[in-house]
Amino acid sequence: MTELLFLLLPLAFYSGWQAARGHHQNHNKNKQKDTSKYFVKGINYLLDEQPDKALEFFLNDSAIDEYTAETFLLLGNSFRNRGEIDRALRVHQNLIARPKLSKKQKEAAMMALGKDFFAAGLLDKAEHVFQELLAHNPKDVNEACLNLQGIYEQLKDWEKAIQVTKCIDSSKNINQARITAHYYCELASQELENGNLYLVDNYLKKAKKVYKDLPRINIIWGDIEAHQENYSKAIKYYEAAIKDDSRLIGMLFHKLVEVSKKSSGIDRVYKFLMLYFKKSKDIDVLEYLLELAHSHNIKRETELYKILKVELANNKLSLQSILKSIKLLLKISSNIDQNKELILLEKALENHMAGQLNFQCEHCGYKMNEYLWRCPVCHSWDTIIRL
Ligand SMILES: [Zn+2]
Repeated sequence: MTELLFLLLPLAFYSGWQAARGHHQNHNKNKQKDTSKYFVKGINYLLDEQPDKALEFFLNDSAIDEYTAETFLLLGNSFRNRGEIDRALRVHQNLIARPKLSKKQKEAAMMALGKDFFAAGLLDKAEHVFQELLAHNPKDVNEACLNLQGIYEQLKDWEKAIQVTKCIDSSKNINQARITAHYYCELASQELENGNLYLVDNYLKKAKKVYKDLPRINIIWGDIEAHQENYSKAIKYYEAAIKDDSRLIGMLFHKLVEVSKKSSGIDRVYKFLMLYFKKSKDIDVLEYLLELAHSHNIKRETELYKILKVELANNKLSLQSILKSIKLLLKISSNIDQNKELILLEKALENHMAGQLNFQCEHCGYKMNEYLWRCPVCHSWDTIIRL
């Protein structure tokens, strides 16, 4: 609690200044005494780790005005940042009810209150606060819209998210066109589940119009083709998505294998990935080539072994790739004694990796089991990578 005290320094300064001024201006004397009394008692309660009693004193201080309001706003925000949402709400609700706040401070208090509701999971109340703020034409329209965008993303209300993104300043915030294209893709995916292919196509065209380079558009188009058993077309869309963003191999690999099995055969996947690997030198692709050799029994061991000898010696491979390399070596080796050692290493690696999560957000470090377009923790789009 003592770390909150620094927030009260401006208030202490203000209080001291008021008290000093009181020597010369007696008409405010009683009021200043009250302010100092409340302030000192409030500080004592904070020091005694009794924040609720401290708040009683601060918030019941009728002398709060536009100067002290600034400090209380920071105090409330600090409570929210510490996860003490109830206290943050009490501070900000109290502030908003004060009549002497300037328009700017009232807006700041409203913004803070909306964030408190959001942090408390009260999304309908948070939405109401930000909508009301917007209705009064605030100075910081951008921040209100960004907060509403967060609410609609949480609610998965993609239509409203698309609408509110229009009032976000793209020059100040990360690519809003790309995010809007994701919203259209979310709608397209929902309709794909419902089997409304006409609507899926419509949403994808809208996505393409706002941001044509989003690989997710090709993936959903591929899903439509796969759904209609046009497997060759589906493969082309999935391959195009991987060429646009190699991180997507992790989530597309199994789809690609499945549709290839139903059309041109699994060797097509191998040829595509090998060509991509040779061109890009992307070491992560190697893991999937090894996976094809191991789990799908393609007869490409000799070619892979040549590549592995170079890559194992010179590059930093993922644990998955090293494990799959050992499996390949076991498959092609006829040396029984050497195999015993390799089996031991294989077992050690499998033990080490048991229960390990395969995907991670590059932005916040959160790990997960499957690829997601949006991180569930920091809410960033397109930040998930395969580990
Ligand atoms: Zn994250």
